[in-house]
Parts: sequence; C-alpha cells; structure tokens
Amino acid sequence: MLGTGAALPDPDRAQSSILVTLDNGRNFLFDCGEGSTRQMVRANINPADVPWVFLSHLHYDHVCGLPFFVLSSWVFNREGRLAVFGPRGTQDFVDHSFEKGAFKLDIQARASYAVRQKNMQAIRPEVTEVAPGLMYQDEDVKVHIDLVDHIPTEITDCFGIRFEAEGKVIAFSGDTAPCESMVRLAQDADLLIHECTFPESFLAHRAKSGVGTYAHTSPLQLGQIASRAGVKSLVATHFGHFDSTSPVIKRAAGNHLPIDLMGPDRLDEVASDIRQHYSGELRLAHDLMRIDL
Ligand SMILES: [Zn+2]
Repeated sequence: MLGTGAALPDPDRAQSSILVTLDNGRNFLFDCGEGSTRQMVRANINPADVPWVFLSHLHYDHVCGLPFFVLSSWVFNREGRLAVFGPRGTQDFVDHSFEKGAFKLDIQARASYAVRQKNMQAIRPEVTEVAPGLMYQDEDVKVHIDLVDHIPTEITDCFGIRFEAEGKVIAFSGDTAPCESMVRLAQDADLLIHECTFPESFLAHRAKSGVGTYAHTSPLQLGQIASRAGVKSLVATHFGHFDSTSPVIKRAAGNHLPIDLMGPDRLDEVASDIRQHYSGELRLAHDLMRIDL
C-alpha cells in the first residue's frame, strides 16, 4: 500500500497508490496519486522497474503523481514505454503532460544530454483507454474491470478492478459508493482493497452541514460488501484524513470536516463498524503496509 490517503495533502498518507509484485518480480501499479513514486523507493522498488499502471479514474488524488513517476523513471533509465490503462481522457492527460505539454521544456532541456536520448521511449507512455470487461491478459495475469459509482459517467468513467495472478485474486475498488459491480469484481477474492473514505460519525456531520455530494463507501457499507462478496481478506483504504492530527489539515478543512472528531481514535470506530457485517481478516491500511498473499 504505497498511498492510503485521499484528496488533501497529508503528512502521514500519500495519495492513492497500490503496487502488486508477482513472485517472478513483475510489478503492477494501481493508481498513481501524489507521493506514490517516493513511496516506491521507500519500499525498495525502482520506479523504472514498474512497466504497467492502471488508473481507476482521473481525480487528481489518483493520477497527479503520474508525471513525476514517468519523468523520474526516465532519469532512472527506464527501458521501453510505460503501459498506462485508464478511462477515456487518459490519452489527453498524458498528451498534455510530456513532450507536447506541461513538461515540454524540461524534456527538451534534459534531452540535450546524450545519456537522456537513449531512452526517450520512457516519456512516451503507451495509453490504452479502457471499457468494462477483460481489460488485459498475458501469460501471468488476467485483469477484469467494471464501472463503479463515483463520478457521473457523462463526465468520466470510474473503474474497479479484479486482478488474477498466481491462482490468487485481488480486487480494488478505486473510489465508489456501494455498487453491485464491485461486489461482482470482488467475488471470493483473496484480497479486497476497498475505499472507506469517512467514518459514520463524519457522514452524519456532513449530512447535517450539507457539504458536497457523497460518492464513497462508509464502514458499515464496506462490511456488507466484503461479506456479500465472500472475500478472504479486506483492506480498508483511501482514508479521508479523519485520523489526522495535522494542525494544517484541521485549520484548512474546518468547512467540510468535523475537526473536533479528527484523530487516530476514528480508526477504532471504522474497524468496529466494518465488523458489524464482516468477520473475516481485516486490515486498516497505512502507507507502506506490505501484504504477502
Ligand atoms: Zn480519491
């Protein structure tokens, strides 16, 4: 679990990012929020050795680390192109980031050195814009995706994923309200990694204060999903900073979070609420949590 936070800058949690490493060493990345590349290095993984990334959706807390991941992998001598799978709009995002986009001048400057010209393919990601169904398959893995319920599809698609490798299944929700497609994707999974953005007590506050629309999964709902899908193990992640003790977050988030309730105790509430409907193995994610399947 490289990053386990949500949209705010959090001193204790990078933004959404999960790295899966097979026994043969192949690396697969799910989401690339802020901080994910640095967390890879802390986890002893060279970003240039991660050739494949799936973007669940295009909210910035899931993709804004992509330019840094691509550019720093170039400098770390990545060989070949990064394969990027994401919703429609991903090609546009990538086109606007590199040689013809935001980092055009940086790339021109660095490419004036012969050593950087050797692997220009590294800053030309190969994008596949994806649709529900079998998204990807090779000799090691099989990947199914389906639409989940987070952003209106008129704006952009959001996906959950079912990743099969070495006889094991990992499902990842991306961001979503409770939905049937995620229960299907997670059916009998060895590991379900599911968002759980706010505890019930925060939701009650948000409902009262009328802040924003809500398209996430609560702990009670998550317990029901994990139980219905029959998963062997559950990781709750994408925590919306409710456990933070950061004075900066508390000062800045006062309009939409009940800051008096914030703090690590909320994790106890989350665990016991998930437990009301789910009795299997449960972990609450923290950055750099490692799970061996
Ligand atoms: Zn998110």
